[in-house]
Amino acid sequence: MLPTLFISHGSPMLAVEPGLYGAAWQAMAAALPRPDAILVVSAHWTTPAPVLSQTATPATIHDFGGFPPDLYRLRYPAPGAPALAEQAASLLRASGIAVDLAPERGLDHGAWVPLRHMYPDAGIPVAQLSVQPGRDAAWHMRLGAALRPLCGQNVLVLASGSLTHNLRDFDFDEFGADRAEAYVREFQAWMHDALQRNDNAALEGWQQDAPHARRAHPTPEHLLPLFVAYGAAGEAPDVERPLARYSGGALAMDCYVFS
Ligand code: ZN
Repeated sequence: MLPTLFISHGSPMLAVEPGLYGAAWQAMAAALPRPDAILVVSAHWTTPAPVLSQTATPATIHDFGGFPPDLYRLRYPAPGAPALAEQAASLLRASGIAVDLAPERGLDHGAWVPLRHMYPDAGIPVAQLSVQPGRDAAWHMRLGAALRPLCGQNVLVLASGSLTHNLRDFDFDEFGADRAEAYVREFQAWMHDALQRNDNAALEGWQQDAPHARRAHPTPEHLLPLFVAYGAAGEAPDVERPLARYSGGALAMDCYVFS
């Protein structure tokens, strides 16, 4: 069984100036057997109901604005994984979850920024699954649980978001500083504790019960992928955190391995 991963993908600039993050993501990939295919669950694809990308040759989507021109020229030319999309759709439907398939969808930066460092050869087929901001953590754990069989078929479930994500609090002068406001650290500590204890009830109630949840996530889409990865790793998974750091005073850049 392959573990599942959660990566805080940070700024799109990490595609070209990865610093320690690129090395950490690469090490996470190097610690695993090379997967046959990858299913990315990205914060940057939000839909009312789950959608899987079924594209044979996905374009690289530059879904951000105001960055240097070099960033818009980058491509991550991995093949798509239409068969994986079909299989994931079947697994979700078998769990009573209605899904759609998107035949034209490319790879958003939540997918290709980490993948560029994890698998720079772009040789592994990739499909994406959207998240549902109108649905809660329990829903996203259910998506993950339905996808669990993929982990036994050498498919990597890679969730990409951010452990905290309040861009109004982000300070570009502190982009590389390992410092964060107290509320970020308190939210991070609560989430890490709940994950380590496999406290699903606490995780399902994070928006009500985690300290400063609304400030840490004014909208939930950057945390929701984490629950898919956690749910896909089976009941009461082992929880490892290979990276816990901060960026811009506001982003907890934590990465997790669930197995
Ligand atoms: Zn993002």
